Amino acid sequence: MTFHPDTLCPFCGLGCGDVGIDQDDSGIAPRPSGCPQADRLFRRSTAVSTNARMAGAAVAMDDAITEAARLLRAGRAPSIAGLAADVDGVLAALTLGERIGATVDHERSEALFRNLAVLRRFGWSATTLAELRNRCDLVLVVGPDPAAAFPRLWERWVLPEPAFVADGARSVVFLGGEPLPETLQCLAGRIEVNGLDGGAADLVALVGRLRAALAGRAMDGDPMMELAVRLRAARYAVVIWAAGLFDTPQPDLIVEGLVRLIRSVDGTTRCAGLPLSGADNLIGANQACAWRTGFPLRTGFDAGVPLHDPERFDWRQRLRDADVTLWISAFRPEIPLFDTGGAVIMLAPPELAVTPEPALFIPVGTPGIDHAGDVFRADSVVALHAGALIDRGLSSVATVIGRILAALDGAALDGAALDGTAVGNTVGGEAAGC
Ligand code: SF4
Repeated sequence: MTFHPDTLCPFCGLGCGDVGIDQDDSGIAPRPSGCPQADRLFRRSTAVSTNARMAGAAVAMDDAITEAARLLRAGRAPSIAGLAADVDGVLAALTLGERIGATVDHERSEALFRNLAVLRRFGWSATTLAELRNRCDLVLVVGPDPAAAFPRLWERWVLPEPAFVADGARSVVFLGGEPLPETLQCLAGRIEVNGLDGGAADLVALVGRLRAALAGRAMDGDPMMELAVRLRAARYAVVIWAAGLFDTPQPDLIVEGLVRLIRSVDGTTRCAGLPLSGADNLIGANQACAWRTGFPLRTGFDAGVPLHDPERFDWRQRLRDADVTLWISAFRPEIPLFDTGGAVIMLAPPELAVTPEPALFIPVGTPGIDHAGDVFRADSVVALHAGALIDRGLSSVATVIGRILAALDGAALDGAALDGTAVGNTVGGEAAGC
């Protein structure tokens, strides 16, 4: 038995670096970390098939690579989606996208674009997890408890005593959402936690009322007045939201209200936002796309130059028209439900059970488990290096795509190549969140 202490967790984007992992001949298993995601996703067996599959039948990896290259080369409207890979994997996917004229998007980008739509229009003042931990004396949480998607947020980044707050005291106020029982258990008795539903039917109205109170226009007796006073009195308030958890038709209106609210408070004391949206290296994928193309995700190469369109190149829209899709989900053996009329080439961990079988399934390793890899933290400012834990004979996404690119560049694919196209698929089942 081998013990790996202080293992970096690559999954939700908080970048916890203290997970303990036991390893023996049967695989790896985490010691209880207090995080349901880590406890589930770090459990991997060595008894998995490393075979690629073509329409469900095992094939040699060389044949799978050749078939992937054939399908992608024949595509007239190719798409690269999922995009859940380490930075090297994303960069390889971008190279492939450029080569075949594909659009690229991450399976969790909806949460990101709810924020980016506002950032583009107004700009914003955003902070980091380190500032939250060390300097913040008042946390305002708007909407659902982010711990639903970022399980150890409170334990790791709010519970520790702030290094630069004079008396070490801070409090947490939930506006329009309830703290989860786990959150109350984590913070109770040590940090003051308040819930304020304000009686408003939706978050847009609630944030609007708080902004009115900050401007001195609240109705007599409105509980927003007290919250406005607390925000103004704080030395450093941080407003946290997880846009992927907003369940409303126009979530960007909530984000816009928050950005304006932060700006009005930041004029007299320090106040900043902490928009959380980063699971499965979503932030790293967006950063890599920006380095490579100058644009965020939802960028396409079919015109010969990068073209960004946040609506048209949303992967859910794009897959309806794509005749071939390269789907990448390297972090977890789960994929969201999606519909496409084209062939699907899937790069995912071997534990993934997918129905119906895609045209081609190529098992890949998970960054931070099967191979080393870099991922970005949810606050966008820190790149983290996750090491390898076990060797199960699984290649990284970057390696597999590198082989597909080599096949595209060099091989003379013969007309008798295997034909395993699956048409009219509804694939997967786990919904993507934050
Ligand atoms: S909170 Fe996130 S980073 Fe931390 S252990 Fe859980 S999944 Fe991993």
